[in-house]
Amino acid sequence: MVRCLRTDACRGLTTAEADRRRDRFGPNALPRPGTAGPVVRLFRQVRDPLVYVLLVAGVVTLAFGESVDAGVIFGVVVLNTIIGFVEESKAESALDALRKMVRAKARTLREGREWTIAAEDLVPGDVVLVEAGDQVPADMRVIRAADLHVDESALTGESAPVIKEHPALPEPTVVADRRNMLHSGTLVTAGSGAAVAVATGAATELGKIYLLLGAAEKLATPLTRKLAWFSKVLTVAILALAVMTFGIGVARGQGAVEMFTAAVALAVGAIPEGLPAAVTITLAIGVGRMARRRAVIRRLPAVETLGSTTVIGSDKTGTLTENQMTVQCVWTPDGRFDVTGSGYSPDGEVVGRPRSEALRWCLLAGAGCNDAALAQRDGRPIAVGDPTEAAMLVVAHKADLELHGAELTRVATIPFTSDRQYMATLHEMPDGDGRVVLAKGAVERLLVLCGSEMASDGTHRPIDRRAALVAADELARTGLRVLATAMKPVAAQDGLVEKSMPGTLVLTGLQAMFDPPRGHAADAVRACREAGIKVTMITGDHAGTATSIARRIGLLGAGAHAETLTGAELAALPEREWPAAVDRASVFARVSPEQKLRLVKAFQARGHVVAMTGDGVNDAPALRQADIGVAMGLSGTEVAKEAADMVLTDDDFATIEAAVEEGRGAFDNLTKFIVWTLPTNMAEGLVILAAIVVGSALPILPTQILWINMTTAVALGLMLAFEPKEAGSMQRPPRDPGTPLLTGALVQRILLVSVLLVGGSWWLFEWAQATGATLPEARTAAVNFFVAVEVAYLFSCRSLNRSIWSIGVLGNRWVVGGVTVQAAGQLAITYLPVFNSLFHTAPISMHLWSLVLGLSLLAWLVIAADKRLRRHFDQAAPAGPRSSTTSVGPPAE
Ligand code: ATP
Repeated sequence: MVRCLRTDACRGLTTAEADRRRDRFGPNALPRPGTAGPVVRLFRQVRDPLVYVLLVAGVVTLAFGESVDAGVIFGVVVLNTIIGFVEESKAESALDALRKMVRAKARTLREGREWTIAAEDLVPGDVVLVEAGDQVPADMRVIRAADLHVDESALTGESAPVIKEHPALPEPTVVADRRNMLHSGTLVTAGSGAAVAVATGAATELGKIYLLLGAAEKLATPLTRKLAWFSKVLTVAILALAVMTFGIGVARGQGAVEMFTAAVALAVGAIPEGLPAAVTITLAIGVGRMARRRAVIRRLPAVETLGSTTVIGSDKTGTLTENQMTVQCVWTPDGRFDVTGSGYSPDGEVVGRPRSEALRWCLLAGAGCNDAALAQRDGRPIAVGDPTEAAMLVVAHKADLELHGAELTRVATIPFTSDRQYMATLHEMPDGDGRVVLAKGAVERLLVLCGSEMASDGTHRPIDRRAALVAADELARTGLRVLATAMKPVAAQDGLVEKSMPGTLVLTGLQAMFDPPRGHAADAVRACREAGIKVTMITGDHAGTATSIARRIGLLGAGAHAETLTGAELAALPEREWPAAVDRASVFARVSPEQKLRLVKAFQARGHVVAMTGDGVNDAPALRQADIGVAMGLSGTEVAKEAADMVLTDDDFATIEAAVEEGRGAFDNLTKFIVWTLPTNMAEGLVILAAIVVGSALPILPTQILWINMTTAVALGLMLAFEPKEAGSMQRPPRDPGTPLLTGALVQRILLVSVLLVGGSWWLFEWAQATGATLPEARTAAVNFFVAVEVAYLFSCRSLNRSIWSIGVLGNRWVVGGVTVQAAGQLAITYLPVFNSLFHTAPISMHLWSLVLGLSLLAWLVIAADKRLRRHFDQAAPAGPRSSTTSVGPPAE
């Protein structure tokens, strides 16, 4: 295999060869889903029931010789298609940009050195190193494997991880049985190994399936589906109504052609056809805003769900804290030593430079059983690898210990995992003095492995576990993260066997390190609390450390011991008592990843919408179970990111709070659009329906309704998607995801606005004619009134809870721009002769204009009064766990 691909298993490809292959084979990426060309996408817009209605109407109108009206109808179809196309492209490119933000990485050998490169840059022949947590970046032949387990469910559907080795297999082996192959898109769940890439991009097994399916990622969320269904039902109902209207009109002796276009206008006016597009755009804008605040959404429904989140389960280390460790104190069975200095700088000392063998071995274990390294960036020392381990290297430097590789050569490793809670290494002693096991880990865990402890003169004596536990508790209670260290001299031929470890190690001491809480953590926790969201800390760390940090960031009140639960306490609880117990606690310490999953379920059993963070391979099930799985972008494994709905590019808790705020903002904007569009659409249909049912002349002609419908939906309604988020969105309870789309309040609002629009335009139409205006002038006045009220109502919909004055009339420049365009359009339809003949309009007098504007102002005052009254009653009503103002209902002002 290595020969076929002309590569070197130890040195990898040369950079020049890799570049050549990149040119030849292209990037290691799947073709973007749904990459239909612009023409195909344009024609896709036509596949819409509304467009069918319009096309039939256009053809029929043309057949009856009404070529101008037919032209207007076809014009509307073209406009609708272009708008749909532009909107879809915009939303797609927003999501596309996001896909690029979470780029997978791969470790590869090139020129004999290890490089971390973008997975996209892998080429066939590259030697790739994989370990637990990685996503396999290409199809690869295994050349080295150590306990390598891979979850291939993405490819084979088989959920149990398979072991990978490197024997040659006969040629026709099916994918599921290829034990010596790693396949792109699968996940490494344990072990490590190396493999040579044999196929990249679309040539991989995953790529082949992908191309077969033509998998296009849909911009669908529960809400968009609910809305699409709602739109469909509404469309059918409105079409039925239109047919009925046609029947009534014809029965009354009106012309069939006239009635036909009227029925079409009724249907087009009343159907809220902009709704699905507005939802997609609003969510896409929300996703973009979140990305700017460092939260990358991987699955669109998360935007909605974020607004309903009631519990956030957050890791401690690195999320609520800086993950910048400094050892401040070392405890040994014979004494305690303070350490000066901070950060990863070697400046500082172990106070008093004590001569203690236990101290020396404690530091040696910390630094030898260690995979981290220290490096310089911009002249400042930084940690490469795990900060906990880096801190242990630093303290060893401060004590002037000559270590890490120099004295002891490592021969075997038991790696650290959150489940195991310790790490052990086997080293050759210098001068052939046999071997030594070094270990470090969580105190309780390591004490089980120890049978003796080391005195300051280096002798071993029976262990006093209580003393060590008391010391660890004391240190933890001050917020320090405590790890125990141990060693064991073994014979030169001995290996490192996990099973034979318990009770055999020698405890050398404890190292206590400080990890400062993140600067904004306390503010973010407070903001969540005000927003009715419970923040919980779920950590693998000691209860004392966790509780102390939780207090510092305001997650726990002073003296609230009962609010901390440990993994051991949870394990002792019967399953049915979990939901009640977890609801009372805010800190969960020494929790295993498996318990994390059960915690999510317990919270959900209490009706909570849970956002849960995670970074390791074992966190994936909890991330998948959570309503919002949140993975860490910097420290998280690919497996965790794959399982998550959202990735934090800075690992910071405050980013989750920001995302929740943006999620609420996006949902508010959707609500605003719905609240604006439903009544205005309803009125557009009703004004025609009422005229036909009453048997009077139409106050607004069908082509004029088409004009109002198309222009206002785009120039006015859509602009609400760009509304900046409202102050105070984090001062109300989370939205109940179960709230129906049509609330009682929304129905009332639809009725009120419809009555105002229909009644007002009708009265104006009649009054204008009575005072000498011609029919086209009266209709032009009615059209302008209709649009003016829609503009006024748009401003009132800009805030869900507040008056337009308090949010600033010009606060959304998109709305201002849209209104300006709409106003120009109204002037054009009123004064331009070509528009006059197309839409049967006519210039109107100043007197009529003042009436139009005065009446619109009156309508707006009535709407504002209704909002104010509703707010008054909402405030008077006792506040439930979730307020009705956050549902998809009309804004209360
Ligand atoms: P969080 O879950 O909030 O990230 P954590 O880092 O303490 O906190 P784990 O990574 O699960 O959680 O670690 C559990 C415990 O294992 C730690 O409290 C520590 O005592 C010990 N530990 C952490 N890192 C190492 C390591 N590299 N080697 C040995 N033991 C470790």
